[in-house]
Amino acid sequence: MSNVEAEPAEVTCTSAPGTVEVLQPRDVPLGGPRAMSVRRTLPQKQRSFIGAWCFCDHYGPDNVRMDVAPHPHTGLQTVSWLFTGEIEHRDSHGVHAYVRPGELNLMTGGRGIAHSEVSTASSTVLHGVQLWLALPDAHRDAPRDFQHHVPPTVHVDGAEVRVFLGSLAGSTSPVTTFTPLLGAELVLPAGATVELSVRPDFEHGVLLDTGDVTLQETALTPGALGYAGTGRTTLTLSTRDGARVVLLGGVPFGEEIVMWWNFVGRTHDEIVAYRDEWQAETDRFGRVEGYDGVRLPAPPLPGGRLRPRGNPA
Ligand code: MN
Repeated sequence: MSNVEAEPAEVTCTSAPGTVEVLQPRDVPLGGPRAMSVRRTLPQKQRSFIGAWCFCDHYGPDNVRMDVAPHPHTGLQTVSWLFTGEIEHRDSHGVHAYVRPGELNLMTGGRGIAHSEVSTASSTVLHGVQLWLALPDAHRDAPRDFQHHVPPTVHVDGAEVRVFLGSLAGSTSPVTTFTPLLGAELVLPAGATVELSVRPDFEHGVLLDTGDVTLQETALTPGALGYAGTGRTTLTLSTRDGARVVLLGGVPFGEEIVMWWNFVGRTHDEIVAYRDEWQAETDRFGRVEGYDGVRLPAPPLPGGRLRPRGNPA
């Protein structure tokens, strides 16, 4: 997906250790005809990352058509995870794939990649999440890549668990990542209390998709992302009427990045150079074959210099 937000805000705040911090979503309209709107919980003023997860958009269920023309990425990986619907993906790595519910599609755009995303004709309702992972400095020019994985469903305390990245509940994704990470979907039946063993060097986020859930002692409303810092060996989720959540985790990223439009870099000048190369159609990003339409032009840069964002130490 392409970020078309004009002016992402940035500020830093701190949170008390040990407590669950609730990140409320904000509605962000995405452009185009029959525009869809997403609920964004990362990044935001008080928190830029959970592990290397640096972008969390939650959308649907909506009766919408997605049609995102070819656009570039740098310095990141994208994870598309659907609950409902089907999206056709094409990229400049030569991959043509379908994104379907319960299936991980992880695209790497380190040095530069371009892709398009279009909902298929049979797909009327879209419901899912679009996530970005920041690449660590040592790997941020990683070559183009695309990995597909269908995780098995495992059970813990009555919940269905699908681990698409990392390890949880005895299930390990074979998909390799550049920093230690966790990504999983959990479906909790009514009345369930689920105790998950987690790595204490990870911080975690729980995005409530549907239903009701309490993370530790903190109740979340649908669309909210509950954040739990490092130092825990268990996470406890409970629900009254049932819930579906996405659990994200990772070792705190510890680097500052500059994010603008669809680029992740380290400096203002680097972002300007990426934008210039996209506009000049250099081979950094390559070509997306088979998309019916024209590529997305980069929006104008904001006035002033882009500043890095990171988490409070
Ligand atoms: Mn994209």
